[in-house]
Amino acid sequence: MHNGMLLVLSAPSGCGKTTIVQRVMADLPNLVFSVSHTTRAPRSGEADGVHYHFADQTAFRAIRDQQPTGFLEWAEVHGNLYGTSLAEVEARLQAGCDVLLDIDVQGAAQVRQRSTPVTVFIAPPSLPVLEQRLRGRGTEDEATIAKRLNNARKELASAGAYDYLIVNDQLDEAVESLRSIIIAERSRRRRTVNGQPMHWGV
Ligand code: ADP
Ligand code: 5GP
Repeated sequence: MHNGMLLVLSAPSGCGKTTIVQRVMADLPNLVFSVSHTTRAPRSGEADGVHYHFADQTAFRAIRDQQPTGFLEWAEVHGNLYGTSLAEVEARLQAGCDVLLDIDVQGAAQVRQRSTPVTVFIAPPSLPVLEQRLRGRGTEDEATIAKRLNNARKELASAGAYDYLIVNDQLDEAVESLRSIIIAERSRRRRTVNGQPMHWGV
């Protein structure tokens, strides 16, 4: 059995990352979503263990302090703590699944230092469009929207560090881009034993 692929996806909040990921995951087998830990309060409709493992600061810090084995990466984003459980990711990769991490640019930089992930950045067509989408989603108050827009400017400056860039203008095209990237990366020769096709007896 082969280890799965680690796929890191980052995007400023409100870019459409969740929407794109849900569509791609519904369509591609053997792709699992890594459920992060966070100290952020659940939004309406979010379930513990499905969207996030919701934790208080004490529980989060207890895992964080088990470094290097607690979190694969962790960061403070928009004033809340977020982290990816190393044990959960490793178990899924070893089971042969491809694991998708939806994490911010700080977390992506940490994962690059510890592993060789495939990295994808999703950008909005423009900042005004991003603002419209954040408001349209209706899940954040004005102060939170302002904080997330301010953060978006900084995050966009990191897009160049990623393997792939998807501009989410037309949703169908963005979904197809991410699907194509995953399918192409699954076919890379380095993902097969010694770079050779299997079962050929050569
Ligand atoms: P994120 O997970 O990146 O924070 P969401 O997936 O919640 O973003 O999307 C934010 C809002 O933008 C949602 O209301 C979603 O329906 C909408 N949206 C996503 N992609 C597009 C798109 N290509 N065109 C128009 N609206 C979009
Ligand atoms: P939200 O609160 O909107 O769900 O997520 C806010 C930001 O936190 C997003 O950019 C998301 O990618 C990021 N995020 C979610 N989980 C993690 C994580 O485990 N680690 C890091 N570094 N960022 C995360």
